[in-house]
Amino acid sequence: MGNGARAYHRWRLILSGARLGVTALVLALGVWAAAGPARPPVPAHWPGLALVVLIELAILGFAVQLATAPLSVIVGYELPRRFGLLHQPWRRWLADRAKGLAISGLLALVAFEVLYALLRSTPRWWVAAAAIFFAGYVLQTAVAPVWLFPLFYRLTPLRDTGLQDRLLTLARRAGVPVLGVWVGDQSRKSRTANGTVAGLGRTRRMILWDTLLTQFTPDEIEFVLAHELGHHAHGDVRRMLALQGALALGKFWLADRFLRLGGPLWGLGGLADPAGLPWLALVLMVLGLVAAPIANAYSRRIEAEADDFALALTQNVPAFRGALDRLAALNLSKRRPSRLEELLLYTHPSVDRRIARQLAAPGLPLRP
Ligand SMILES: [Zn+2]
Repeated sequence: MGNGARAYHRWRLILSGARLGVTALVLALGVWAAAGPARPPVPAHWPGLALVVLIELAILGFAVQLATAPLSVIVGYELPRRFGLLHQPWRRWLADRAKGLAISGLLALVAFEVLYALLRSTPRWWVAAAAIFFAGYVLQTAVAPVWLFPLFYRLTPLRDTGLQDRLLTLARRAGVPVLGVWVGDQSRKSRTANGTVAGLGRTRRMILWDTLLTQFTPDEIEFVLAHELGHHAHGDVRRMLALQGALALGKFWLADRFLRLGGPLWGLGGLADPAGLPWLALVLMVLGLVAAPIANAYSRRIEAEADDFALALTQNVPAFRGALDRLAALNLSKRRPSRLEELLLYTHPSVDRRIARQLAAPGLPLRP
């Protein structure tokens, strides 16, 4: 299993890197194609500008998807299939992917229309953009369990009333009331397991993948959910949203600098010239890559704190180790990645580090 995980992650890194490279290349070609003197005049007002943004984005998005399609199929379908992580039939995988692309395409369209409307109206567009994107993140977090999950999973109430009572009691003890416990049919797609407490306030609920129910002991399920409740008790959803908002402000400020820099280089007729869209997209993509390790570092910290919370709540060390071992095996995690790999790519501390950290912690109920 250890070797399998190593090979899987090596291939995934190489192929995902290649896909990013191809995406950057297509965007760079878009920058080059949009530059140059022979261009129609920039529409000055809303309906015209919105239409040009729509057309630009549609062409660019189609080109990127077409160029990266083979790599996307290998990374998303062939590779996990070969390593036993996916058994979803091709047609269903394709349908899921089409749904995902439709949603992200729609979100990208709304995002760029908003950006260009702001670029046209104010030189401080980046402040307004960060504020609007922040509101978008909050909205997305609130509606995800209600609108997004059901598009990809069939959710049914947990039938095991014994386990349900145990988990609802756990939530009350954690001081994080939830609406109920739902089960998602992950086993139709994959063997990978997970559980989460999703939503905000009135939409907050526990969602267990059915793979968790079949592969984990009740103690281990309880630990997984205790960890998730820890995130809510610590206000991690809010903390991550605040960080994302701050990063968005930094990203859009830098994007403003680069847009002003690129204007004369690519012959753009001002900030709001939609011919600059490929350049803006390329800049935002690179800034997103630069910002990811910052968000990951913060995420690893709050993940470790959620482990602390869960152990204090459950006092169950064997369940903690059992759950982590099982998650690592089912999800084909690398238990001990290189330090650099972990710093750049990992949203959670690696499994071995999570266990070692708890073993070293004073005052925790630890006797392995
Ligand atoms: Zn977590």
